[in-house]
Amino acid sequence: MKKKIIAAISAVAVFAVCGVGVYFGDSCDVVIDPGHGGEDYGAIYGERNEKDDNLDLALLVHENLEEMGIDAELTRKNDKKISLEKRCLFANRKRAELFVSLHRNSAEGAKGVEIWISDDSPEADKKIAESILLMLDEVGISDNRGVKEGYARGDGNYYVNSHTLMPSCLVELGFINSDTDNDLYDKNIEEYAKAVAFAIVDNLKTAEAQ
Ligand SMILES: [Zn+2]
Repeated sequence: MKKKIIAAISAVAVFAVCGVGVYFGDSCDVVIDPGHGGEDYGAIYGERNEKDDNLDLALLVHENLEEMGIDAELTRKNDKKISLEKRCLFANRKRAELFVSLHRNSAEGAKGVEIWISDDSPEADKKIAESILLMLDEVGISDNRGVKEGYARGDGNYYVNSHTLMPSCLVELGFINSDTDNDLYDKNIEEYAKAVAFAIVDNLKTAEAQ
């Protein structure tokens, strides 16, 4: 009986050591999170699905970051559903320095870009959100709706903002039910991706210098 207990404890210890090895051995600079995926379509407008727009942009942002020598990871690389919990766990385990979630907005008669951070966000979250918004604004957006704190549809925060350990923000890149915003999205997607990547690189560099 005793032997069995010791064996069980050893097994747990081996698991724990291996777990720590994976945890510390596999880090990255930034995690890009394309919102939604799979049966979670996000916002829908006619034939257009938010999950696809988010992924298209995220893949381009990732490409730009890699080209600039940044070790970037995506929470999904294809059209599959991933829980919010898994997205955050992934970033936390990777000990990423930044987490940027990409979304499209939806509301009757609205247009423009806004970026959400947690309502108890330290300066670093505000800084990355503000620089992404500034860079996107320079490319061209229909309206700069600002950096906002909390959650658009009630109290609290976006899950990914409150459950990631690193500075994070959630970009709502235009309204999917606005033809103006969709035209801009399609026309500027390459430039938007570059803008997001540049803002990230700039933030990583300043964080490093401090
Ligand atoms: Zn969304």
